[in-house]
Amino acid sequence: MVISAPSGGGKTVVRSGLLKLDKRFAFSVTCTTRSRRTGEIDGRDYYFVTVEQFRRLRKEGKLLEWATVHGNYYGTPVQSVVRVLEKGRIPVMTIDVKGAHSVKRLFPEAVTVFLLPPDLKTLVQRLRGRGEAPENVSVRLETARSEIKVAARFDYLVINDKLKEAVHEVAAIADLETRKTGRNLDKVKDFGSQLSKAKIKL
Ligand code: ADP
Ligand code: 5GP
Repeated sequence: MVISAPSGGGKTVVRSGLLKLDKRFAFSVTCTTRSRRTGEIDGRDYYFVTVEQFRRLRKEGKLLEWATVHGNYYGTPVQSVVRVLEKGRIPVMTIDVKGAHSVKRLFPEAVTVFLLPPDLKTLVQRLRGRGEAPENVSVRLETARSEIKVAARFDYLVINDKLKEAVHEVAAIADLETRKTGRNLDKVKDFGSQLSKAKIKL
């Protein structure tokens, strides 16, 4: 489950709501070269790495995808996703639009969700409410212009107005996706083999 949004769109809070709501999901922690914000914990929010460490991970093919966002490197370690999948859980990736498209290209079965606030005024209020300085808000809105241009490439759009509703909508998307025939062909095959073995008397 790949979630993207303009900065301030609610990726972080929707992700935490989702992880609390539904134990099927687990966050696949990504790495970044940006410095740690107050309250962030290494290994929980991000793996905080140096530029040299990041370049080495990239060179060694240990990143599933990577992107430069606001002058810093970000990337998803392959291991982070594999660990979640091995536990039989759904990896939740909150990454930028470029990363989302790379994941979709590599894994067409990935489900991509684009979050939008109900309107621009709300987005600005949320960015300010998060404590972003006015110049940071401007940079983020500028980036948002190019991000929304590619929104149509995402599988789903969720409007993040009431947080609880947005979280439930993302969980509902996962419910529907897990019911797709293509994801359940083993069950169809199993039923088919039971049918072919059975002697049916009418
Ligand atoms: P992102 O991770 O996409 O940059 P955040 O999850 O940090 O965005 O959200 C930006 C700010 O807006 C945060 O302060 C968050 O608490 C707030 N926020 C996000 N969604 C909602 C919502 N539905 N209702 C009220 N506040 C919200
Ligand atoms: P922030 O610095 O605000 O936490 O994140 C900045 C942007 O980088 C957000 O859009 C976030 O989703 C994105 N991001 C975080 N981790 C990754 C990652 O591993 N890969 C990509 N492509 N983007 C990421």
